[in-house]
Amino acid sequence: MKKKDLDALKKVLEEEKRRILRHLEEISETSVADLETPSGDSVDLASLEINQNSLAKIGKREQNHLKKIDAALQKIEDGTFGECESCGEQISVARLMARPVAQLCIDCKTEQENEERRYSDRTSDGDNDGFPEEGDDL
Ligand SMILES: [Zn+2]
Repeated sequence: MKKKDLDALKKVLEEEKRRILRHLEEISETSVADLETPSGDSVDLASLEINQNSLAKIGKREQNHLKKIDAALQKIEDGTFGECESCGEQISVARLMARPVAQLCIDCKTEQENEERRYSDRTSDGDNDGFPEEGDDL
């Protein structure tokens, strides 16, 4: 990979990391603010609880994404960034530009998705919670 591409991808990853950290901070601030609402009169405890659960889910998803970003940044440091974790081939720069956290080349990813579809009736780890899958790589 050209150094210019690597630098560009590193910048994208670092920006994405900052954005998520900021958002997680906002989420936790919101949670605290909600909890500090004086109890008693007009507070709807049920909806407050749902809100807390949703925030926790969004937070979990973003933390997972953050882990992928950190792993990608670590690979840039190690000089192994862009290698497919399954077959070791170089992932195309175009794919990395679209998905800097991609860990598999498009061939392996397609294969993995076919596998997942085949076993889609097995119990997942609770990831199918109805939230958009934006944190997952393509
Ligand atoms: Zn591969």
